[in-house]
Amino acid sequence: MLKITLGTNNKHKIDEINLIAKEYGIEFVPTDKFFNPVENGNTFLKNAYCKADCARKHGKTKLFLADDSGLCIEALNGAPGIYSARYADTPKARIERVLEELKGIENRNAKFVCAMVLVNQEGEIVFQVQKDCPGEILQEEKGHNGFGYDPIFLVKGLNKSMAELSDFEKSKISHRGLAIKDILEFLKNFEI
Ligand code: IMP
Repeated sequence: MLKITLGTNNKHKIDEINLIAKEYGIEFVPTDKFFNPVENGNTFLKNAYCKADCARKHGKTKLFLADDSGLCIEALNGAPGIYSARYADTPKARIERVLEELKGIENRNAKFVCAMVLVNQEGEIVFQVQKDCPGEILQEEKGHNGFGYDPIFLVKGLNKSMAELSDFEKSKISHRGLAIKDILEFLKNFEI
């Protein structure tokens, strides 16, 4: 089985991605040391590259993948965006801040965005992709699965929040699920 280092400390992300990767005979593994990249890009793609390049220094595989993802809210001019993980100190406080900032605002349109960058041992970009998942911000939390902003995100076309989907259902429609599928399809024909 082809192993690829995934630049993240988020075990939930590794599990989510491996759920899909298994079908392709690929396993994503964590970095071998605590992973602490400097994310100083101003786009999801630039930050995904920073993380992939950092993973390269902490893994023994031939390829290294990282994602940068976040929630972009139309009425907040795309915030929290690339700052999604740092919008407040705890996941609960981040949700509260978003709900507070949208109080009384009718336009609740939002999207989750995920950029992924695959690099080789030289740090060269082998493939990159950015995908999104549209929806709306709910008035209050709904559901207990997933992580981050999932409980306040109503998925477009489904009458469910992201936190009401199983990991398998989420992987079919999510920003990260769609991005990883493109990476896996690319890898089908890639000679290492
Ligand atoms: P990253 O780990 O730097 O990509 O940070 C992304 C942040 O965006 C996470 O800490 C979450 O707050 C949020 N986020 C990204 N993807 C998701 C998702 O699938 N569900 C809920 N929140 C997400």
